[in-house]
Amino acid sequence: MTDKEIKQLGLVPANDIRVNTAIAPFNDAMLKEHGFESRAEVSKAMFLCMKKYGGVGLTCNQAGLPFRMFVMGNHLSLQNGKKYACWNPRIVATSNDTILMQEGCLTFPYLFLKIERPRTINVEFEDDDGKTIKEEFSSLFSRIYQHELDHTMGITFVEKVSKLKFDMAKKKAEKMYKRDLQLAEIEQSRKSKEA
Ligand SMILES: [Zn+2]
Repeated sequence: MTDKEIKQLGLVPANDIRVNTAIAPFNDAMLKEHGFESRAEVSKAMFLCMKKYGGVGLTCNQAGLPFRMFVMGNHLSLQNGKKYACWNPRIVATSNDTILMQEGCLTFPYLFLKIERPRTINVEFEDDDGKTIKEEFSSLFSRIYQHELDHTMGITFVEKVSKLKFDMAKKKAEKMYKRDLQLAEIEQSRKSKEA
């Protein structure tokens, strides 16, 4: 399957009901109902969408799909591009020690929040073949997995911080957005002068 044949997915807005609702457990009968032939076809579309928007994790409901699944990795800075498609993901154990880490989210461009979560997790999920995979994640994959698992339950990272922390991060995000907009305008006028 070439990239062109893969279903093009887009991101749904943060206030979309699908982003804010828990996703039902996945079973293979759901694929056909929604126009997919296989789990692998969904994974490919999800990885492509994630790459397009420059993320390291993406859950199906963020792209408007009703499958309890997320993809993560596929980035050179993350264990040489290791990637996972996690169907019916769950956490079976978490470490007692926690770590404070900055997170971003494709549903909330420019917004970065420092969130405390367990450092290490033991997980179970199904892969594209429906096989149950057991893994222990620490560092970044642990963080992404926990963030994406929240998405499958309709929880976004803004719900994990205080209102004060959120308001401050939002102000910063607006500033960064405006700065990017200005840079784009400068670039645009430079180009039109050249033309
Ligand atoms: Zn997210």
